[in-house]
Amino acid sequence: MAVEGYDVAQICQNGHVANKFTHRYPENNQDFCQTCGTATMTICPACHTPIRGGYWDPFVDRYEVPKFCINCGEPFPWTDLKIKAANDLAGMLESIDDSDRQMLEESIAELTKDTPAIRVAAVKFQKVMAKAGKNAASAFRDILIDVFSETARKILWP
Ligand SMILES: [Zn+2]
Ligand SMILES: [Zn+2]
Repeated sequence: MAVEGYDVAQICQNGHVANKFTHRYPENNQDFCQTCGTATMTICPACHTPIRGGYWDPFVDRYEVPKFCINCGEPFPWTDLKIKAANDLAGMLESIDDSDRQMLEESIAELTKDTPAIRVAAVKFQKVMAKAGKNAASAFRDILIDVFSETARKILWP
């Protein structure tokens, strides 16, 4: 069966891609992730729409794991987990206070999307990073780099 356009992807809870062409190459499906052992999924847990997979084009091999469902707009579990990890880390830092944590949480939510508020969010994020210190800032970078939008990444970590 020929598959045109986007295929359906199989991705684990933590965002590792098990198979980006589940229709074209079903033999490559994995019930569990080979990297982290969690169960894989091919549909959005919130609305059950298939997760967009790779685009079938023999000349292009580029696939970015989606952060949000294209049907319901809910963040996928891997997006949620990373945002939660960042907020947990913020909760442990003594160098920042509750209003910083609040500001950080709000800025992270904006920085995952490309909204007009992204520049303001980036300034807020950097303000909190300056207070958090170098080690914490690099931990935040590692956690968040995959969930932030391309624009956010270019502003924060060019
Ligand atoms: Zn995994
Ligand atoms: Zn959905």
